Amino acid sequence: MAATRMDEQREAAARLPALDRLLREPEFAAPLAQYGHGQLVAALRGELERLRAQALAGTLADAALAPAAIATTVTGVLQARNRPALRAVFNLTGTVLHTNLGRAVLPEVAVESVVRAMSVPVNLEFDLDTGRRGDRDDLVENLVRELTGAEAATVVNNNAAAVLLLLNTLANRREVIVSRGELVEIGGAFRIPDVMRSAGAKLVEVGTTNRTHAHDYIEAVGPRTALLMKVHTSNYAISGFTASVDVADLAAIAHVRGLPLAVDLGSGSLLALSPWGLPAEPTVCATLAAGADLVAFSADKLLGGPQAGILAGRAELIARLKKNPLKRALRVGKLTLAALEPVLALYRAPEFLAERLASLRLLTRDAGAIAAQARRLLPALQGALGDAWMVEVAPMASQIGSGALPVERLPSHGFAIRRARGRGGLDRLEGALRALPRPVLGRLADKALWLDLRCLEEVDEAAFLAQLAALQP
Ligand SMILES: *Cc1c(COP(=O)(O)O)cnc(C)c1O
Repeated sequence: MAATRMDEQREAAARLPALDRLLREPEFAAPLAQYGHGQLVAALRGELERLRAQALAGTLADAALAPAAIATTVTGVLQARNRPALRAVFNLTGTVLHTNLGRAVLPEVAVESVVRAMSVPVNLEFDLDTGRRGDRDDLVENLVRELTGAEAATVVNNNAAAVLLLLNTLANRREVIVSRGELVEIGGAFRIPDVMRSAGAKLVEVGTTNRTHAHDYIEAVGPRTALLMKVHTSNYAISGFTASVDVADLAAIAHVRGLPLAVDLGSGSLLALSPWGLPAEPTVCATLAAGADLVAFSADKLLGGPQAGILAGRAELIARLKKNPLKRALRVGKLTLAALEPVLALYRAPEFLAERLASLRLLTRDAGAIAAQARRLLPALQGALGDAWMVEVAPMASQIGSGALPVERLPSHGFAIRRARGRGGLDRLEGALRALPRPVLGRLADKALWLDLRCLEEVDEAAFLAQLAALQP
């Protein structure tokens, strides 16, 4: 009896279709055309091995041997393997400018400009007026000058690169005076003392963590001083018994001694945000007007553009930055410039900014409208999760993110999801939402999963709802 069964299994294994015969079946024409011969053969081998193991275990169903069935499985394997690594997600974390999720989403004008710059040749470094070689910074320099009052500007890969370039150009093997209250770490690997070292500059710390005075800077100036620097303490706030020297006073101290003042503004807003009910953040324009000689800021934080770092300030200093070979290594590509120009141009009409600049539109969404949206979507979400989970509309507080205005919160609404009955932890639900075709990312806290709807604009609601059916909570 046992021998007979083994014979049957061997026979089943022998009935497996041959690989090259399968490849000629019409069902394999489409995956062959899409994924190519090498990938298809490898996936087919894997599938045939799996079927052979089933045959030998006596669990192989005849239907599984049909070319159509094999083609379906193999196409699924190839689809999963070829799924892009960079994927669209729903950012329901409550942090609008989320560094791990790509910071600012770009406005439509920028998207169109990037698509065009990717598809056809562009005048990246070609002056169309003279027919000669141009400078890629020229594409946005006039806009930056117009919007900030700076004499000149240059653009690099990000703000960390901007700070590195400015320190290496102006302070290599010389000293830079910074307040101890401003020696910050901006997430990951960006720490002011480390950047100083990488740039070849020597950090001279003055004052204390909570209080730094004008005389601290004055006493630290010496023959090797290259510049005074002020760093915006983006992602933390100190309160209580504090003192710092403002840009105007620091500029006066520097200029009397023939030194420049550089300011790392971090997020750096181009406009005062108070008209939109957002908290105050120093603007690039005001910082330059107060006497800073060079200002470095990010293009993808509050500015709402692509990843880039902008240096704006005195023409003579910008010219020196541009001559540093590091500038060549840190420069931006055409796609960045294609996105940056139309974003900057939106600032020429501030009255439309909250409507046209995607990041500002999200930051200024009305809490009441978000609450109404949450109530509207509640039945669908509760339905998809089933009665083992309890979904409630709850008020919550969004953050701006990217270190901008760390203690400020924006009133928002969304869902708080808790276990109603049954087992299985919240992390399983969090994982299930993350496993959706367009992953839904929320925040686990206080025994609930929080989904903040601030960044789910109405145009995206249909896509959000459509995939809930695939949820396996
Ligand atoms: C964010 C930030 C940086 C780094 O900017 P990236 O654009 O992330 O490179 C540097 N300095 C300050 C003060 C910042 O807030």
